[in-house]
Amino acid sequence: LYMVCDQYSILITGGAGFVGSHLCYLFLKKGFNIISLDSFVNSTYEVSNNIRNLLKYEKVNIQNSFKFIKGDIKDTILLRKIFKEQLDINKPIKGVIHLAGLKSANESFKNPLKYWSNNVCGSINIFKVMEEFNCKIIVFSSSATIYGLTENKIINEKTKIKPINPYGNTKSTIETILNDIYFNSPNSWKIANLRYFNPIGAHPTGMLGENINDTPNNLFPYILQVALKKRNCLNVYGNDWPTKDGTGIRDYIHIMDLAKSHLLSFMNLLNSPPKIINLNIGTGKGTSVLELIRVFEEVNQCEIPWEFKSRRIGDVPICVADNSLCKKVLDWVPKKDIKTMCRDGWKWASSHPNGF
Ligand code: NAD
Ligand code: UDP
Repeated sequence: LYMVCDQYSILITGGAGFVGSHLCYLFLKKGFNIISLDSFVNSTYEVSNNIRNLLKYEKVNIQNSFKFIKGDIKDTILLRKIFKEQLDINKPIKGVIHLAGLKSANESFKNPLKYWSNNVCGSINIFKVMEEFNCKIIVFSSSATIYGLTENKIINEKTKIKPINPYGNTKSTIETILNDIYFNSPNSWKIANLRYFNPIGAHPTGMLGENINDTPNNLFPYILQVALKKRNCLNVYGNDWPTKDGTGIRDYIHIMDLAKSHLLSFMNLLNSPPKIINLNIGTGKGTSVLELIRVFEEVNQCEIPWEFKSRRIGDVPICVADNSLCKKVLDWVPKKDIKTMCRDGWKWASSHPNGF
């Protein structure tokens, strides 16, 4: 693995984001040449220092194997330039891990065109340039949100795709495009659609983590802001869902477990004949909003004031992964529990109260 991976590079789009920063770190640590392309629409250049500092702290020497580029995936000329440059220095881009995208379901209701343009047009652009350069390995960040409202308590990859917000529509559309690309030239592309459940937490050192500066839409960063006393109270959306305590149940997964699944997916594609595969990336365990609050308070010895509010539009009661397929295909088990997610997430937030 280590001998081979020096001869090529991997492009990570959205590499400065929450998932992307942990991926850059992990892939660099394993010896890959990494190019991160990010517009910083939801991150900052500072993240590259955080990644470098963490690697330095762990005494990992990455020499020149990390490029951190500011740019938009919609910029075809820039994409071509990046692919061409890598060819010229004999480290062609072997595969793309495509994370760049806007991710707020709530905002996507208000501004659907922004989501379609950024996520879908941006993705088409990437796929076109990949094809031009004969780069046909892609790991795509999809989302459990594409399943929408399901009858099933536990969701497997065959569960019907029926998103209930524009953000989810963009993700399922990108999957459809990837399917079309694959089935029109079945002996060339290697594609993994990773359908993330709810990634939370941070690197155990607290040196990498999630942007919690703006008003968070997601539960965990909101809890972090309340713990930091940036907000007085957490709104718990709904006490009348059909769940054990009336609050929504999700499948939270530690960001480092999620990162590992990308490494294994990439290696799996690299070493297999052309294929397209959809994988749920979750732990298979459900946690309610109130349970998450309680664990956070207990592990971090703090108090999270909360109050019930009415249900939020576009929410589903329960979203938990059947993760048996990814466990089998990737030979992977998510190892970190909710306590660890709460502890590590707080370690990051409490040491970076003003952001990156
Ligand atoms: P994030 O916002 O932290 O990271 C996404 C990064 O993409 C950001 O740094 C942003 O600046 C960048 N970006 C956005 N549009 C871009 C563009 N046009 N060109 C270049 N860069 C652009 O989000 P994240 O949590 O790291 O999520 C990464 C991916 O995973 C996203 O595609 C998201 O939809 C998907 N996902 C995330 C979750 C989650 O809960 N975090 C769940 C399911 C799927
Ligand atoms: N939630 C909440 N308060 C918040 C944000 C979220 O009660 O400020 C609830 C939400 O209704 C859902 C769960 O927490 O039941 C997880 O929401 P999140 O937005 O983090 O993930 P998603 O709904 O996208 O899976």
